[in-house]
Amino acid sequence: MELHIVSEANRCLNCKKPMCQQGCPIHTSIPQVIQLFKQNKHTEAGQILFENNPLSAICALICNHEQQCAGHCVLGKKSTPVHFSSIENYISEMYLDRMTLPKPELKGKKVAVIGAGPAGIAAAITLASQGYGVTIFEWHSQIGGIMRYGIPEFRLPKSLLARYQKLLEAMGIQIRLNTTIGTVLLIDNLFRDGYASVFIGTGAEKPRCLGIQGESLGNVHFGLNYLANPAAHPLGNTVAVIGMGNAAMDVARTALRNGSRRVILFSRDNTIAASSNEVDYARLDGAEFVFGKQIHHITEKGPVFQNAIMDESGTVTGYEDALELVEADSTIISISQVPRTKLVRTTDGLQSTEGGVLIVDENYMTTRPGVFAAGDVVTGAKTVVHAVEGAKNAAFAMMRYMEQNG
Ligand SMILES: Cc1cc2nc3c(=O)[nH]c(=O)nc-3n(C[C@H](O)[C@H](O)[C@H](O)COP(=O)(O)OP(=O)(O)OC[C@H]3O[C@@H](n4cnc5c(N)ncnc54)[C@H](O)[C@@H]3O)c2cc1C
Ligand code: SF4
Repeated sequence: MELHIVSEANRCLNCKKPMCQQGCPIHTSIPQVIQLFKQNKHTEAGQILFENNPLSAICALICNHEQQCAGHCVLGKKSTPVHFSSIENYISEMYLDRMTLPKPELKGKKVAVIGAGPAGIAAAITLASQGYGVTIFEWHSQIGGIMRYGIPEFRLPKSLLARYQKLLEAMGIQIRLNTTIGTVLLIDNLFRDGYASVFIGTGAEKPRCLGIQGESLGNVHFGLNYLANPAAHPLGNTVAVIGMGNAAMDVARTALRNGSRRVILFSRDNTIAASSNEVDYARLDGAEFVFGKQIHHITEKGPVFQNAIMDESGTVTGYEDALELVEADSTIISISQVPRTKLVRTTDGLQSTEGGVLIVDENYMTTRPGVFAAGDVVTGAKTVVHAVEGAKNAAFAMMRYMEQNG
């Protein structure tokens, strides 16, 4: 691996206007990091990466590089772009073990972070690095959010999340697992108990329903529920997956790795929402793709479709009347997720849009003063690097708020 990343680093043109950096949602200083790497200054490079993006070691593995950093590299116009993510992975993984923990002057103020997904983790690290006392409240029994309960092990090793948990603890961040805010404990209780500000990073983990007959049958599952614990869902030989987004690719690949022989993904039109890399890997693993099928209802024998009628541009203009059963042992619905409503229902003044995402101002403050939010709960289902970018900005806005409000 090292030889490969050294030659990748040597291919970097050190552009004056680095397009790769613009393509990265968190604007990683890619040329600067590559130059430091070439000078063997790995710790300095790691520090720059971590301070800009505390989840750099994870993003390096699971970002959509072909659309982001690598997709914007000028070398990619005529040949192969620099695969910065491999260099980033090497530096950031090593840095996690070697970093010197920040020892900031303590501010004497405590903040609450709700949710231990990428947004919550990034907010907690940013706030703790600046001397705030942080407590994370997490509904699940382990940290990570979708990084743990959605993204499969073969793409993101869970051992990396364990290293993050150690880091959080070493930074003095308290983590209350198995604790949901919005049931027994409410946001009002957090203010009562002296938290000066609250960050919400609760994500969008409620599977979107199709609203069709058959969704509650025993052989039907939602993608995220399946991915949270594949071993608990024996799917049988043939699996139909409704949806062709990135999550659907993870569902298909996980099913094929857990004993299913035939996995077929269905899309209502001619498009695939997932990134081309993920599609390539799903195809390599043996997944099949069927287009132009609108799900009508689901039976115990499998899903029932109508053929879509499309115009020349591929836009769906209607559906044929005839119904077609595709025999499958299990059907998995994987058509995106929306935020849960628990916090909005139990917190005075906290408002969401009709689509369910929290309303925030330009400083990431929600409609409830002192309560900030970022990540999927604000943007809707997006990506880890976007969640980290939002959470980092929100954390700095929280610090300004706490300074101004005593
Ligand atoms: C199957 C799948 C694959 C994906 N693959 C990729 C990928 O390859 N690359 C990529 O960049 N992105 C990927 N994504 C998207 C990415 O995982 C999300 O955008 C990201 O995790 C959002 O981070 P978050 O912190 O906002 O929310 P989440 O990761 O959802 O974390 C929210 C956390 O809050 C907790 N929580 C919720 N409500 C409460 C409450 N009331 N009290 C306490 N805790 C609460 C949850 O338990 C959870 O731990 C994928 C998504 C899915 C579904
Ligand atoms: S954070 Fe993601 S997009 Fe940015 S440089 Fe790293 S891998 Fe590329």
